[in-house]
Amino acid sequence: MDFIVVGASGAGAFAALLLARAGHQVLVLERDHLEPATDVEAAAAVAFRPMAPQIVQPHIVMARCRELLRTRLPNVYRALLEAGVAEAPIANLMPSSLTDQTARPGDERLTLLMTRRSTVDWVLQRALRTEPGIILRYGVRVLGLLATSENPPRVTGVRTDQGDVSASMVVDTTGRRSAIDGWLAEIGAGPSATWRAECGVAYYSRHYRLRPVVDLPGPPTTRLVAGLDEFLVGIWGADNGVMQLAVGPLATDHRFRAVKDPRVFEAVMRTVPTYSAWLEVLDPISGVFPMGAVHNALRRLVVADAPVALGLHAIGDAVCTTNPTFGRGLSLALWGAADLVDVVASHGEDLATQALALDARVVAHVAPYYEDQAVTDSARLAALRHAIYGTPVSEPSPSRSDRVTYAELRTAAWFDPTAFRAFWKVMGMIGLPDAVYADPDVVAATRAALHRYGNAPMVQPTRVQLLAALTS
Ligand SMILES: Cc1cc2nc3c(=O)[nH]c(=O)nc-3n(C[C@H](O)[C@H](O)[C@H](O)COP(=O)(O)OP(=O)(O)OC[C@H]3O[C@@H](n4cnc5c(N)ncnc54)[C@H](O)[C@@H]3O)c2cc1C
Repeated sequence: MDFIVVGASGAGAFAALLLARAGHQVLVLERDHLEPATDVEAAAAVAFRPMAPQIVQPHIVMARCRELLRTRLPNVYRALLEAGVAEAPIANLMPSSLTDQTARPGDERLTLLMTRRSTVDWVLQRALRTEPGIILRYGVRVLGLLATSENPPRVTGVRTDQGDVSASMVVDTTGRRSAIDGWLAEIGAGPSATWRAECGVAYYSRHYRLRPVVDLPGPPTTRLVAGLDEFLVGIWGADNGVMQLAVGPLATDHRFRAVKDPRVFEAVMRTVPTYSAWLEVLDPISGVFPMGAVHNALRRLVVADAPVALGLHAIGDAVCTTNPTFGRGLSLALWGAADLVDVVASHGEDLATQALALDARVVAHVAPYYEDQAVTDSARLAALRHAIYGTPVSEPSPSRSDRVTYAELRTAAWFDPTAFRAFWKVMGMIGLPDAVYADPDVVAATRAALHRYGNAPMVQPTRVQLLAALTS
C-alpha cells in the first residue's frame, strides 16, 4: 500500500481522492461507520457524531475550497451541485447598507457554496467508494504508528484495533483531537511544534427549512453573521431550502446555557430584528445542537528545520483549527490535501525533502490565517468580556495609516464596495490577510467608510431584553 489515510472526514476524503487520482494506492481507515445514507435528508438526520460534533453545526464552503473543488475535484463539485448545494455569488451577501451593489471584475472568484456539512460528507463518502485506487474501511480505529528506530523514525504503517497495517506513507487526518503527539512519543520521535490561541466561543445552532413564501427577508443563500456586544448571531443558507441559525456566546458565559432549549434559542434570535424576520419564514427541522471547546491551534511536523518523523504527514484540523465562525476548515483541509499531493509528486522518494516542502506550504498557506485569527479573536474576546463582565480593556492601538485591522475592514464592508470585496477575499482565503489589510486602495476605502458611517448598522438587544429572552 502506498498511503494510509487515517480518518475519512473532510481532510481524509480530499487527500484520499487526490492521492488516488495521482496514481497512488490508498487505504482509508475510519473509526466511525460513515456508510452514506440513501439521500441527503437521511444523511442529515443521522449526521451527529460524538467525536466529530461539528458536522451538525452551520457550515458553508468558502471561496478557496470552492475554487479547489472546481479545479482539483471537478466531479465532486458537480456531485455537490446535483445534491442540492447552492452557489452563492457574493451579490447575495451584500447588505442593504451597501448602496453600490454593481458587479466588479473578480467577483466570480469570491463565490461561496451553501450547504449543510452532512451533505458535503454524503457526497464525499460516495466519491470515496467509487474511486479506483481507494480501499475504504470503516469501524477501524488507529491506535499508533509502526516505525523503524532510526533518528528521526521512519514511519512504516499503523497499529489498529484490528491489527497492524503497513504502508509507505501515513497521513493523519484525524481532526482537532489528533493523538499524533502521543503516537510520535511511542515511536521515539520528538513532539510536533504546536501553538494555541483562545477562540472562546460556544455554538448553539439549529436547522430550519424555508417555507414556500414569496417575500423573503433576503436571498436564501445568504450568510449573515453579526458580532453583537454580548454574543454572536448568524444565519447561513444551506442546500435544499435549509437554513442554519446559530447563537455564539462566550463559552464561559453561563447565562446562555438555557439556549439549548429551542424556545429560548428562538427568543434570543428574536431580539435581533434581522433574524426575527427570518424566523417568520422558517420551520425548525432539528433540535438545538450545542458545541463548546473550540480553539485556534496550529501544528507543524517540522521542528527546528528537521522533520519529527519521515513518511508521516498531517493535514486538516490535525494541523490547524481556527474560529469556526470564519468557516475556513474545509478550505484549509482541501488546500492541505492539494499541497500534499503536489509535494509528493515533486519530491517522490525523498521523504525528508517532502516533509520540509509540505511544512513550507503550511507556513505559506495555513499559518497566516491562524495568526490573523489569533489576533482578531483576542481583540473580540476582550471586547465581549468588557461588555459582559466589565473587564478593563487596554487602550486600542492608534489606527495605522498604512494598514487596517480585520475589525475595521468588517465594519467598512457594510458600506463600501472595495472594503466589501477585500473582506470576502480574507474570509474566502483568496487573499492573505496581511496583503489585503495593507493594500492602499483597501486602506483608503476603509478609512473613508469608517469616518463617514462609524459602526455596523445592526440593531441589537439591550441587556434587559437579552436577559428576558434568556429566561423566557
Ligand atoms: C462549530 C463549527 C462550525 C464550522 N463551520 C465551518 C464552515 O462553515 N466551513 C468550513 O469550511 N469549516 C467549518 N468548520 C471546520 C470544519 O468542520 C473542520 O475544519 C473539518 O471538519 C475538519 O475536517 P478533518 O477531516 O480535518 O477533521 P474531522 O472532521 O474532525 O474528521 C476526523 C475524522 O477522523 C476520524 N478519526 C479520529 N481518530 C481516529 C482514529 N484514531 N482512527 C481512525 N479514524 C479516526 C474521525 O472519526 C473523523 O471522521 C466548523 C467547525 C466547527 C467546530
